[in-house]
Amino acid sequence: MTADTTTETDPGPPGSTAGLDFIRQIVVEERRAGKHGGRVHTRFPPEPNGYLHIGHAKAICLNFGLADEHAGFCNLRMDDTNPTTESAEYVQGIEEDVRWLGYDWGERFFYASDYFDQLHRFAVQLIEADKAYVCDLRGKEVSEYRGLWNEPGRNSPCRDRSVEENLDLFARMRAGDFEDGSRTLRAKIDMASSNMNMRDPAIYRIRRVPHYRTGDAWCIYPMYDFTHPLSDALEGITQSLCTLEFEDHRPLYNWFLENVDVPARPRQIEFARLNLSYTVLSKRKLLELVEEGCVSGWDDPRMPTIVGFRRRGYTAVAIREFCGRIGVAKANSVVSIAQLQDAVRQDLNQHAPRVMGVLRPLKVVIENYPEGQVEQIEAVNNPEDESMGSRQVPFSRELYVEQTDFREDPPKKYFRLAPGQEVRLRYAYFITCHDVVRDPATDEVVELRCTYDPETRGGYAPDGRKVRGTIHWVSVEHALEAEVRLYDHLFAKLNPEDVDEGGDYKDALNPDSLEVVTARVEPSLASAPAGSRYQLERMGYFCVDTESTEERLVLNRTVTLRDTWAKIEKMRLAGQREK
Ligand code: ATP
Ligand code: MG
Repeated sequence: MTADTTTETDPGPPGSTAGLDFIRQIVVEERRAGKHGGRVHTRFPPEPNGYLHIGHAKAICLNFGLADEHAGFCNLRMDDTNPTTESAEYVQGIEEDVRWLGYDWGERFFYASDYFDQLHRFAVQLIEADKAYVCDLRGKEVSEYRGLWNEPGRNSPCRDRSVEENLDLFARMRAGDFEDGSRTLRAKIDMASSNMNMRDPAIYRIRRVPHYRTGDAWCIYPMYDFTHPLSDALEGITQSLCTLEFEDHRPLYNWFLENVDVPARPRQIEFARLNLSYTVLSKRKLLELVEEGCVSGWDDPRMPTIVGFRRRGYTAVAIREFCGRIGVAKANSVVSIAQLQDAVRQDLNQHAPRVMGVLRPLKVVIENYPEGQVEQIEAVNNPEDESMGSRQVPFSRELYVEQTDFREDPPKKYFRLAPGQEVRLRYAYFITCHDVVRDPATDEVVELRCTYDPETRGGYAPDGRKVRGTIHWVSVEHALEAEVRLYDHLFAKLNPEDVDEGGDYKDALNPDSLEVVTARVEPSLASAPAGSRYQLERMGYFCVDTESTEERLVLNRTVTLRDTWAKIEKMRLAGQREK
């Protein structure tokens, strides 16, 4: 027995449920009414057939969060009844991700596959009570007999088998006497039920596939709808939270609890799954993207997986904050991915040190700056947090600035570098551009010839003269080369799953979701460990990639400084109005 029924927690004073989501209200009310002995015991039950995604994070925050709020428990359970798709690698990934998100299951780590013996006994109990039978119909026939939603099904010719015959056949199923798919064990409920799930659903099927944990011990495997409620009951779960598509399965969930001898009566409550714009959240589809090489792996920083987000530089705090903000509701909706990025930005704005890096370098030569001279310039690490201190950044005669910070023919109100225009180099000096050097072959601008005003050290002119633009820079001699991966949405369509006829969600893959540039960054990033996060001033938040080495710095752009897609969307809408 795994139920943890020893700890009775105090329901506390009958507080108000105002402001709570509908699940939290139910839990408060159930405790107040003394249901489940006042306990709150939830579980997060992933199937180890893939890595967790942001939708799972919502379920994790809900289940673990709810248990925390009521001084209860939350189990982590592998729902591993389908041997064909599950693996120990995924189990390990799931554990790592839940822990990284900041949740602790203590001793309460379980596997549905550990209940196989007990589940088998429950099945025998059902047969003995004449509530389950072995059926010889095969896949196609089963569907024909099941009927349609508006038309009752027909009883299987095997439905009236005697208990003895059923016990014998089930034993032989288990012993491996029958081939895969030739028989099933079915619950005897009601073939005329208006709920299709109640039309004698399968409980066990024959499958000669070794299981990653039980090996060849079984050739029959219990179905999800049978396993889930009974696993919940065995663990003493009080509220079994699942997504809306299981609403129609609830009567079946309850039927199993009522018809076998279980130690607890969990209550299933459904909530809306998380859908995110520009994203698919289905393990099957994410696996397909991995297997077909559309991404580099489950941890590709463009993937909506926890491992992908982690590698991209998202923080657990930001993901939890996002899950809190979107809340829990009963109606399906699509949440804007901008909300998630906002939460990431907000966290990194406070905690990521700021450094300078130039993504697309353009060389600047300061003609009146002494050759060979190097100055150390003080730069603030994070103006949001003084305690993060400052650092020294080397300044010299040759610098790199951002190509996009120079315009030979500047439009009005362009305050960055342009011929004859003075700008401030962040923390350093005012410079003025006098000349451009072109590549004779391509006519491209490859170098700017500038002068600096030595009186403006620190970025201010003693004569009170103002400049409107401030740009970032790095010293050519001191800069580190970095491979920078600039990510955009993996899908170019708001809802990639909304496909045209004959189409596929992969048609919506964004061909520009990854751009790699060779950037130059300030030397303070030398030997920055994988996973460390920075703001490159004016360019966004970046995270040192897991592939980064001492010899080759690799950065992932975690998120831009502003929601650039909001602007694109606004322009698109404005364009539509003009038409
Ligand atoms: P997928 O549809 O991506 O394959 P799943 O539901 O089959 O997901 P499970 O491993 O069974 O994956 O999910 C574990 C738990 O996470 C379940 O309780 C499920 O309801 C919940 N969950 C899965 N996807 C979402 C989502 N998008 N939003 C909220 N909860 C989710
Ligand atoms: Mg599932």
